[in-house]
Amino acid sequence: MYWYMGDYSGLFYILAIGIMIWSLIVRGRLNRLVKKYGDVPVSSRKDANTCVNEMLRANEVYGVTIGHIPGELTDNFNPKEEVINLSDTCYGRNSITAVAVAAHECGHACQAASGMMLYKIRQIIAPAAGFTSKVSVWIAIIGVLIMYAARTYEMSDIGYWISTIGIVLYSVVFLFYLVTLPIERNASRRGLKAMKELGWVSDSQLGAAKKVLWAAGDTYAVALASSALTLLRLLLMRGRRRR
Ligand SMILES: [Zn+2]
Repeated sequence: MYWYMGDYSGLFYILAIGIMIWSLIVRGRLNRLVKKYGDVPVSSRKDANTCVNEMLRANEVYGVTIGHIPGELTDNFNPKEEVINLSDTCYGRNSITAVAVAAHECGHACQAASGMMLYKIRQIIAPAAGFTSKVSVWIAIIGVLIMYAARTYEMSDIGYWISTIGIVLYSVVFLFYLVTLPIERNASRRGLKAMKELGWVSDSQLGAAKKVLWAAGDTYAVALASSALTLLRLLLMRGRRRR
């Protein structure tokens, strides 16, 4: 589809390759850190489950339970069921990685409990973004193809509007990543604060935990940049309405 973008195609290739390389660096760094601190027990020897319960109590969040989810780093907080799901990497484990990730997920539970506005917005957008991420790009491309194949202004107009619908739908995906990044950083900050204040880790271990959580958050920064580029690419591909 690059040939529709005229002078910008070179720039887009460079940006796309740049984001790809950045993504590889971020994932490599995250994997290294998770592994490195996955075998180092926290100084307090408390496991992730105990830490989550302490953090919930310290933040006066009640009614949230802990579940066990299979897989590595599949940890998440389910706000509907009010469950913090800990993966094999974290559940019952007392490594720096396990405690840091669990504290981060607990941070999400605290966000939900405190009624954080951005978190509420993400909850509303999430299902729509999940759906539109699959179809929006294709709708936009089909619209562009109709525009270029059109022999009449009317047909070209139909293509333009179909493409515009695709772009509007994709904007929801972009918006999702736009609110996700600050939410993720905030959850990490809450987790690190608890790690420090509740005395689970030594000072140097707190630095290690911060590295792990920040590297994990960087994957959302990559996703945001990538979706911004896709949005821009769709806009340039569609171009202006032909008259
Ligand atoms: Zn998170």
